Amino acid sequence: MDSEKIKYLQENYNLPSYRCQQLKEAFFHKHISEYTNITTFPKELRGRLQEEVPVLTTSLYKIYASQEKNAYKALLQLKDKRLVETVLLNPKPGLWSCCISSQVGCVLGCTFCATGTMGLARNLSSEEITDQVLFWQFFIKEEKIPARLSNVVYMGMGEPFHNKKEVFKSLRELMNPETFHLGARHLSVSTSGLVPAIYEFTEQFPQVNLAISLHAPNNELRVKLMPINKPYPLEKLMAAIEHYIEATNRKVFIEYIMLKEENDSLVLADQLADLLKKVSKSHLLHVNLIVYNQTDSEHIETPKEKARKFKNRLQEKGLSATIRKNLGRDIDGACGQLALKEPGRTTYFQSTNFVEVI
Ligand code: SAH
Ligand code: SF4
Repeated sequence: MDSEKIKYLQENYNLPSYRCQQLKEAFFHKHISEYTNITTFPKELRGRLQEEVPVLTTSLYKIYASQEKNAYKALLQLKDKRLVETVLLNPKPGLWSCCISSQVGCVLGCTFCATGTMGLARNLSSEEITDQVLFWQFFIKEEKIPARLSNVVYMGMGEPFHNKKEVFKSLRELMNPETFHLGARHLSVSTSGLVPAIYEFTEQFPQVNLAISLHAPNNELRVKLMPINKPYPLEKLMAAIEHYIEATNRKVFIEYIMLKEENDSLVLADQLADLLKKVSKSHLLHVNLIVYNQTDSEHIETPKEKARKFKNRLQEKGLSATIRKNLGRDIDGACGQLALKEPGRTTYFQSTNFVEVI
């Protein structure tokens, strides 16, 4: 459900505009998930709409909750039966954020990423993207979780800028005061570095947060981990980051997965610091060191102590850096783990301590 679908309903069911208002109120404010529960609506119409125009483009296939109930992962089934994953996270009290997918799979093939091993099945439409947010809003209401969804990050399956048109449309929808009405500063897009799209994003969404998956401080290493570095090497990527900061005066989040004995030495920490310090206003860069979530690749997670030393070295060099808290690992719901690990679909990566709630 989005503003376009409301328009469709208006035109095809001859709804007066106050009826459209009631629908928006029901779905986007009260988070009522079914027409049949919209009591302000005539009964006959509720039944017809329920039959003919489903509220969500997705249906729930499976949902998992982490032990501490601070992370949930849902597998949603699309109309063509393909599955997509989305995650709801509660990183600190009162803050709920969801991580949404922009594609089924991804073509960019980063070696550490489970989604990358699937290849790309297809792009999601803008409505399929925003429906993931609406799905979680309905879920929070139904589960009586006493909180509001405040943040949305495009860090699920897929490369958002490889599906630029629909992702940009979905960002507009999430900010639309008539529907989702989320503030731009509560939205974040993570990219592996599709340089031309970063410039367009800067132009069109200067208030939306930008995260760059860097993962290596030199081209030689980066190209091994991320094939996208070939067409868009670090020189071009860093120039796009510099331009974003110049144009927006806003922070950029630099994502860096810690991979044991690959990119985690202090020599590379120095190289990373040098690379980032070259950016003017480098105080606006924040390095998120990410604990590698084991997938069935050859990479291994950096030991905690070593990751801490790496972080300290960056801080000594004057950079802002933290090690990112990783929620949802026990349900394979953390970054890079989203690969539809369903038996019989792709390799099932066994998680021992999830709780299946539905
Ligand atoms: N395609 C986009 C967004 C989706 S991936 C991107 O690459 O930025 C979201 C984040 O998860 C990225 O920073 C990505 O590098 C990271 N990631 C991928 N695989 C991971 C893994 N196995 N462990 C931890 N983070 C991973
Ligand atoms: Fe695609 Fe991002 Fe995974 Fe790379 S890390 S394969 S760009 S989803």
